Amino acid sequence: MDYKEYIEIVEDWPKEGVRFKDITPLMANGPAYKSAVDEIVEYAKEKKIDVVVGPEARGFIVGCPVSYALEVGFAPVRKEGKLPREVIKVDYGLEYGKNVLTIHKDAITPGQRVLITDDLLATGGTIEATINLVEQLGGIVVGCAFLVELSYLDGKDKLEGYDVLTIMTY
Ligand code: AMP
Repeated sequence: MDYKEYIEIVEDWPKEGVRFKDITPLMANGPAYKSAVDEIVEYAKEKKIDVVVGPEARGFIVGCPVSYALEVGFAPVRKEGKLPREVIKVDYGLEYGKNVLTIHKDAITPGQRVLITDDLLATGGTIEATINLVEQLGGIVVGCAFLVELSYLDGKDKLEGYDVLTIMTY
């Protein structure tokens, strides 16, 4: 399937110079959304995943249907102040300023095998921070899966040593 047919490119959004890859047309098309999710499920099947982890908000759109199909749990990674119970956190740099991501302290038990999902790999900062949270809790990151990779931003450099699946590359 040519998934790129279902990705709308929005120029200069949310700010000038960014070519935003909008995945909502893909999600709006039942067969295309299912097929993309199924590719990640196939990739993950042999990995004996215990839990899927995804950063808000589009990591949920990819990760939740994958966890449902694999019949394993899903643990959300969220911005500071959003999760109601005890969390651990990580700070990471953005182009301007910084961001904090959190995960519930009991979301993963040591030794659990984790698949991380997000919609898009850009600079890799978000996924690197998510890996950091999983590993702080003793989880083993056995795969990272994305719908879209922006290869010109070299996010994969931050994922050296990890197994990565990307369904579309720009
Ligand atoms: P990064 O931390 O730079 O890899 O950025 C990844 C996050 O930012 C992803 O969760 C995407 O949802 C979002 N993102 C970054 N760049 C784009 C883009 N050009 N189009 C759509 N989403 C983007």
